Amino acid sequence: MSGRHSRQDLETTRDDRVLHKLEKKWEDSPTRALRWTKGLDVRELDADSAPGWTGDKQDGEALLAAHAEELSELQERLFADGRSGGSRSVLLVLQGFDTAGKGGIVRHVVGLVDPQGVEHRAFGVPTAEEASHGYLWRIRNALPRPGYIGVFDRSHYEQVLVVRVDGLEPEEEWRAHYDEINDFEAEVADSGTTIVKVALIVSKEEQKARLAERLERPDKYWKYNPGDLAARAKFGDYLDAYQEVLERTSTDLAPWFVVPADKKWFARLAVTELLLHALRSLDLGWPPATFDVEEQRKLLAES
Ligand code: AMP
Ligand code: MG
Repeated sequence: MSGRHSRQDLETTRDDRVLHKLEKKWEDSPTRALRWTKGLDVRELDADSAPGWTGDKQDGEALLAAHAEELSELQERLFADGRSGGSRSVLLVLQGFDTAGKGGIVRHVVGLVDPQGVEHRAFGVPTAEEASHGYLWRIRNALPRPGYIGVFDRSHYEQVLVVRVDGLEPEEEWRAHYDEINDFEAEVADSGTTIVKVALIVSKEEQKARLAERLERPDKYWKYNPGDLAARAKFGDYLDAYQEVLERTSTDLAPWFVVPADKKWFARLAVTELLLHALRSLDLGWPPATFDVEEQRKLLAES
């Protein structure tokens, strides 16, 4: 036996077995368990839950780590595809309340892949130039090029969230955005972009604890924004706004996934799995050589 199986083989077999065991901790596939469906009301969601997942925190962290390699390889395939004339890209849209963990997702999930293949963009209060254009202008400009994973930390959805809650536009104006957004996303999807929209839902209590932590730790002051309390005071209004976003803009081409975010480890695992699923669905091979490999080998040897 020992002669036929290298140590490497045995380790690979053991890793595969561990991976398989961890993957089975999803009793339902994450895409099914987390996808928004009619009847799911975010106002009644348990933000501390872990839909579909039967494992504990340790299992969750282990599976995230175990999937890192595949995620990274698929990202490289996507990049190679883009370099070879492919038109595909992936767009991860992250929406969520202050402290919901959007930044942590970027660091811990998106951070698993080569940063050269990521186009990350955070959307804040529109600048004077941005405000002089329609709200989709800055969004269009930030769409990922072929081969890239685009990440939006906030997005065009702010136009039906903060704009609605703070009354920055009259109701008939922001109400028109749902259809506009659906048309826009259909166009983006048609151009080759796989859109994954994630709503991170944190509870009001957990948000308080996370804000309190920012006030207790000098290394977190920079994350605290006194203005966040104004948004917090409208927590219920935001939940209403999120609910309508889900009801009006979860489409087959650009579905919403609702991720309970009180458990940071679960939110990170969930987004890793959703991203992995999107990349797997592209069924990416490695692009074939555009030159004569044999000839190049010979030329190299002679050089
Ligand atoms: P942060 O993500 O913590 O840097 O905060 C960005 C802020 O920009 C949030 O308070 C958002 O509500 C706000 N913001 C993002 N997009 C818009 C928009 N289209 N109109 C108004 N405020 C926005
Ligand atoms: Mg903030």
